[in-house]
Amino acid sequence: MSHSPFGPMLERAHDHALAYLRDLPDRHVDARVDREALLAALGSPLPQRGEPGEAVLDVLARQAERGTVACSSPRYFGFVIGGAYPVALAADWLVSTWDQNAGIYVISPLVAVVEETAARWLLDLFDLPRESGVGFVTGCQMANFTCLAAARHGVLRRIGWDVEANGLYGAPRVNIVASAESHITIDVALRYLGFGTKAVRRVESDEQGRMRADRLAEMMATLEGPTIVCAQAGNVNTGAIDPLREIGAITQKHGAWLHVDGAFGLWARASRGLRELADGVELADSWATDAHKWLNVPYDCGVAMVRHAEDHRAAMTSTAAYLIQTRGAERDAVDWVPEFSRRARGVPVYATLRALGRDGIEALIERGCDRARQMAKILSAEPGVRILNDVVLNQVLVRFGDDDETTRNVITGVQRDGTCWLGGTTWHGMAAMRISVSNWGTTEDDAGVSAEAILRVFRGLRG
Ligand SMILES: *Cc1c(COP(=O)(O)O)cnc(C)c1O
Repeated sequence: MSHSPFGPMLERAHDHALAYLRDLPDRHVDARVDREALLAALGSPLPQRGEPGEAVLDVLARQAERGTVACSSPRYFGFVIGGAYPVALAADWLVSTWDQNAGIYVISPLVAVVEETAARWLLDLFDLPRESGVGFVTGCQMANFTCLAAARHGVLRRIGWDVEANGLYGAPRVNIVASAESHITIDVALRYLGFGTKAVRRVESDEQGRMRADRLAEMMATLEGPTIVCAQAGNVNTGAIDPLREIGAITQKHGAWLHVDGAFGLWARASRGLRELADGVELADSWATDAHKWLNVPYDCGVAMVRHAEDHRAAMTSTAAYLIQTRGAERDAVDWVPEFSRRARGVPVYATLRALGRDGIEALIERGCDRARQMAKILSAEPGVRILNDVVLNQVLVRFGDDDETTRNVITGVQRDGTCWLGGTTWHGMAAMRISVSNWGTTEDDAGVSAEAILRVFRGLRG
């Protein structure tokens, strides 16, 4: 290594990485500088003459100390984020080192086999049909897109329309049905696919944000022709999972394609204690999830899974004269994802699943839910604090003083305090604090210290 130009650079990066990770559990969670300060440090004109690589790494690392939010900290509860398991991060370094174009088997037999295996493990873990097609994409946005592209292909193919060749001009109309609480990325995927958002029929949801199966049944009775229904496992506010067994029975009866956005909620299937929450999810035709959230691989990695592998492949495959694609059992990733050249993002998934095993994954998921309940319990014991959702998974909605302004002030106060970080939302017209426990490293102590910090801010505001 001493004579390799990589040696000094990688050692420098290694040192900076370890220093960053060492500080992570205890540092002020929020960023400490604004855009102007970062621009002053980083935003010079493109230099005419280059600089030594180590010096560039030093500059970046110094600014990262103050310009990053510690979102892989065990006390980061914003959005649904998740950290990075040590083995996942290390595997991700290897991915960059190998620098494989993971698009086709011929360029990387190793990655093709690793991703093929990780795909099989995920179908086993979630107990979904083993013949499903699987693609590793950048996140659940693209997983939703990929699955809905397969759905578009599948429902139109069944009535004799080849959407890949003919597009949507002159195509039979496809009914699009989604929960009133579906994630915004479903709408974005529908835009990308040429369906637009205006035509989406929204099914009313219940007080926890679950799609109402009775309302879906009523709506389906009025629809004719090809239909795609988008349900959800894991409401981004409450964590609630749609009644998937009932929904699956309805969509099957009507011959509709059922897609489930399970960005984080699908992981309930990895726990024997929680899997009944997602009972019936196996009835769906496609499933989108994330690995960079609850599995705690580094950004970015989502997973698209489609029961009808031929529809999945037909919607995604690329062919070109110069491509050497396989005819046998070897896996070409380009057949399953929107990307052409791509990062080997299935490798950290493989490493994490293998290092944890079924037991470790189950423990990871159950731990997140335990900590969420722990925080809800501490917070709700305080007069004036109310938990707005049934804490069934890893999400908690909290309201302070039954007042929008107080709730928002607690959120900004906590962000400024820096012990932990969380964001806000609006739930049923009320401002609420949103807690998501998605990090592998969040201990009981982290959850306790964070809940106390939240209460300290609330009491301070009360005076
Ligand atoms: C996070 C999330 C998404 C989007 O996933 P990305 O990985 O950010 O693309 C979609 N649906 C749900 C329910 C989510 O929680």
